[in-house]
Amino acid sequence: MEKKTKTVGIVGGGASGLVAAIAAAEGARARGMNVDVVVFERDDRVGRSILVTGNGRCNFSNSHLEVREYRNDAFVNRAFECLGDPASDEPAHQVMTFLEGCGLEWREEPDGRRYPLANKASVVVDVLRAAAARLGVQERCGKAVKAVELPREPGKPFTLRMEDGVFERADAVVVACGGRALRALDVEGLRKEGVRPVLGPLRVAEGDIPFVRELDNIRVKCSVQLLRDEGGRPACVGAESGELRFRKYGVSGICVFNLSRNASSGDILSLDLLQTGGGDEAVRYLTERRIRLARRYGESLSCLDLLRGLVLPRVAEALLKRAGIGEDATCDEKMAKKLAASLSDCRLTVSGIGDPEVCQVQRGGFAVGQFNPQTMQANDLPGLYVTGEALDVDGPCGGYNLHWAWGSGLLAGRACAEHLASRLSASEFRV
Ligand SMILES: Cc1cc2nc3c(=O)[nH]c(=O)nc-3n(C[C@H](O)[C@H](O)[C@H](O)COP(=O)(O)OP(=O)(O)OC[C@H]3O[C@@H](n4cnc5c(N)ncnc54)[C@H](O)[C@@H]3O)c2cc1C
Repeated sequence: MEKKTKTVGIVGGGASGLVAAIAAAEGARARGMNVDVVVFERDDRVGRSILVTGNGRCNFSNSHLEVREYRNDAFVNRAFECLGDPASDEPAHQVMTFLEGCGLEWREEPDGRRYPLANKASVVVDVLRAAAARLGVQERCGKAVKAVELPREPGKPFTLRMEDGVFERADAVVVACGGRALRALDVEGLRKEGVRPVLGPLRVAEGDIPFVRELDNIRVKCSVQLLRDEGGRPACVGAESGELRFRKYGVSGICVFNLSRNASSGDILSLDLLQTGGGDEAVRYLTERRIRLARRYGESLSCLDLLRGLVLPRVAEALLKRAGIGEDATCDEKMAKKLAASLSDCRLTVSGIGDPEVCQVQRGGFAVGQFNPQTMQANDLPGLYVTGEALDVDGPCGGYNLHWAWGSGLLAGRACAEHLASRLSASEFRV
């Protein structure tokens, strides 16, 4: 008797799609099944979304991942538990074993961020494509899927409708289209919310624009708090530190990107350029500095003198202007206190996301309650899986989002093979 061939259709050849394809093909091969794994990619090549990550270096994972930092962390935690490894306490350590098994060599930075040893994102794409090709995974590029339709009766295949009018059949489908393109894809039987860009720069209110515009492109090291009015009092709803970059419209930098996940219009960004922790410490620090410099400059020490050597000249000028203090104003003790407040609690009002185009992830998509976290399979829709950013999961900068993409792709790909195996009778297996 001729063995039946089953087909897995992967919608999107990005991070989670490529891993799902490899895992499905591997699972099928291990079971001796005849399975065609086909990646439908709307772009002219697979993996382009990986190439742009980490400024072209691909920060693909992190050894200090905190699962609670993910949106919908309970779902992510259950998924990562399935990918645990007794020899490691890292969440979803099997992701690392999988990538290493594909041939990826990597290195780690002191903060735990992991990059390919070759320091190029293209290497990650190369190893995944090679692993997929070795397993016979087919890439169909220039194929945008418009809709995924459910089987009309049990045992029948799914239909993938393409933008060019043709359709394809598949016995299992992994929707791995990322967040950006989600609007253009309908998946029958699944509810999806609108998506909005996060993990990007923040725009500030009109009143703060002259200040940030003057500092456009300047980078400063600082601590930033995100404050929200709660019952008339500002409550801290996020805190980060690192490099912040002023832009014409607001602020950017990894610390801002991370805060953008939780920022709403009307929130306040409080920049501490002294990084002393603010309040009394900032006053003490600047008062001592004033006394020290006055020994050399005399009592005519100006406010600009106090800031020179502490912050960049443009930052000093903009801060003084904003505080309504003349550069030549004498820096007495009272003035030092005023400057301590300007430097340690420089407030900007958030008015929204700065530039959606540079946001790293889209929040929203398919609500996680519709899926089994152990397999990424849609509840009550056997054979249909969603992975990566298409699900309502996102994490901060630092390798979180790719780690989720690889992990969810791995679970879905393995589950696909399992699902098809349960559909095929023993006689149809290769011996
Ligand atoms: C500039 C930038 C830098 C980033 N840097 C990092 C980083 O360093 N570390 C990190 O962890 N995360 C980073 N991210 C986030 C990370 O890239 C994503 O979270 C991750 O790639 C999501 O994986 P995915 O498989 O869900 O989707 P993607 O990797 O986006 O793949 C989706 C694929 O599906 C294709 N597609 C879409 N719609 C269709 C359709 N209808 N039919 C067929 N194909 C379709 C797309 O062309 C794409 O190839 C970055 C993101 C950006 C934008």
